[in-house]
Amino acid sequence: MNYYARPLSKLIDELSKLPGIGGKTAQRLAFHILSLTDSEADALADAIKTAKHEMRYCSICGNLTDADPCSICGDRTRDRSMICVVESPRDVVAMEKIKEYHGLYHVLNGAISPMEGIGPEDINIKSLIMRLQQHDEIKELILATNPNIEGEATAMYIARLVKPSGIRVTRIAHGIPVGGDLEYTDEVTLLKAMEGRTRL
Ligand SMILES: [Zn+2]
Repeated sequence: MNYYARPLSKLIDELSKLPGIGGKTAQRLAFHILSLTDSEADALADAIKTAKHEMRYCSICGNLTDADPCSICGDRTRDRSMICVVESPRDVVAMEKIKEYHGLYHVLNGAISPMEGIGPEDINIKSLIMRLQQHDEIKELILATNPNIEGEATAMYIARLVKPSGIRVTRIAHGIPVGGDLEYTDEVTLLKAMEGRTRL
């Protein structure tokens, strides 16, 4: 039996689909939203709609952006000889925060995971290979996928594909705990991981 009127139960239902939001939290958030003024609630709804409609993937690197190409790909002051490969746009933000890396990125938007049925063709690997073929100024590929099973498998797969081309392929190594998430790694650890990257 449903204790809430339909509009409220619908709101709770939608909120509970968000990652990390359980039933109780969804209820708490829904009641909070109902307590907002009309303009506050509209601002929240508008922010969701605007972000969803205006954000897209950069056609070069796969990062989330509101302009194509993204601000990083379009920045001529960045070092175009290096590409750092990450799993998600949130990892780009984490890398940018350490302010030590000035090359370009390639965002895979996922990792190879046979368990979840995600193969190489399901993530942005093809576009990475094409990028490497089209731009001979690229001298190093830094594989900064997460240090877990999927991230390692993805790094190994890309390394095997790229190595014959002669491009230097490195993997971030030290500092990041196994099973950890790049996104949640503190800046010092991430900086150490970048400095200690190893050739594959
Ligand atoms: Zn880009």
